[in-house]
Amino acid sequence: MAASIHPHPAHQNTIESETKMILQNKLEGHSDLVNHAILFDDEDGVLSISDDKTIRIWIKRDTGNYWPSVCQIIQAAATCLSFDQQTRKLFVGMENGQVTEFLIGDDYNKLNKEKNYPAHIGRVNDVYYSPQSNMILSVGKDKCLHRYCTETGRKLSTFIANSPCTCIQYDELSSLVFIGTALGEIILLRITQAGFSKTSILKVHSGMIRSLAWDIDRQMLYSASNDHVVICWKIGEKKGTAYELQGHNGRVSSVCLIQQQQILLSGGEDQMVIGWSMKASRLETPEWKESDVCERCQTPFFWNIRSMVDQKKIGLRQHHCRNCGRAMCNSCSTNRTALPRLGFEFKVRVCDECFSQISDQDQKSLARLYDSKHSIVSMSLNERKQMLVTCGTDRVIKLWSINSLIEYASKQQSSSN
Ligand SMILES: [Zn+2]
Ligand SMILES: [Zn+2]
Repeated sequence: MAASIHPHPAHQNTIESETKMILQNKLEGHSDLVNHAILFDDEDGVLSISDDKTIRIWIKRDTGNYWPSVCQIIQAAATCLSFDQQTRKLFVGMENGQVTEFLIGDDYNKLNKEKNYPAHIGRVNDVYYSPQSNMILSVGKDKCLHRYCTETGRKLSTFIANSPCTCIQYDELSSLVFIGTALGEIILLRITQAGFSKTSILKVHSGMIRSLAWDIDRQMLYSASNDHVVICWKIGEKKGTAYELQGHNGRVSSVCLIQQQQILLSGGEDQMVIGWSMKASRLETPEWKESDVCERCQTPFFWNIRSMVDQKKIGLRQHHCRNCGRAMCNSCSTNRTALPRLGFEFKVRVCDECFSQISDQDQKSLARLYDSKHSIVSMSLNERKQMLVTCGTDRVIKLWSINSLIEYASKQQSSSN
């Protein structure tokens, strides 16, 4: 999965105007990195956590701007959160290894500390609260996954991975836990009476997993990684199908899913938010074939000394066609094209045979690109409000209306039905 700088296709621009992400508000004032922010369902308010050791609640005033109604200072940098809109229970993971449970007051102007879970040694990277199961799952830099009972505060089970754990998703129905690691693996575990039992490991990413999203209806897992790639894993099919989505120019820090319209949103350090239509039929990226000669013109590659001598030819560099996976010399693969059905939204190398067969329809984009104008640390989605929240390395929280994107996707769906 070579990461290269590539121009985004020009054909995006024509459609972008009808599916804009519209910036509604900017929240500023944190004195350090904002790690996460979410919107409340039943109030015009935002909750944010930051490396500046604060948890803030911002309420929209009559002026249309958001002002803090709570700014609680805690003992360490707040790194991750999980919030349940119904019970208003908030779990915050911290740099010192602790997870703290808070209860947010009815009028959103109070934050009451309820419990401490001394979960990890060092930074907590993600926390997941399940109100149905009365438990929290947390992962940390210490390679541990812990499960705590939220009623008793007791630790129920622990799993130790072989590298720091970075993010969690959970499937309530099957009690399946997905954890991403710093080495780019996704570990699947089942919660049993005896503890965690390891089910399998998904290995395709070549960089740290930054974020996971779970589509409970379609049993699909989405992963975002530092290797610039987003992968969708068809967990339910049990055939090991995985689609790669390549459109980012930098590390992908966050993924979230608009469930109803099946749009996956990915955000990255390249300042882009990409909306991927997951309704579209996609194909798996072909495996790269290994060969000592170009599979089209038979010219030897440079390590194939014998053929070079026999054929009196200079060895060439090996390239691969992204469409068929065959090993090619440069002159047999001079064309570049986008292959959206294979997940390539930008132009990639294809062999001359494949190029002659690729139609305009094959090149039609299956994603929409938006410039968030800040390097994205994390994102959160509020489907009810049709809003997306992005936190940037610029310490700014941006609130975006994604209304037109959802409307556009709904129209596409009804016209294709
Ligand atoms: Zn060739
Ligand atoms: Zn080809």
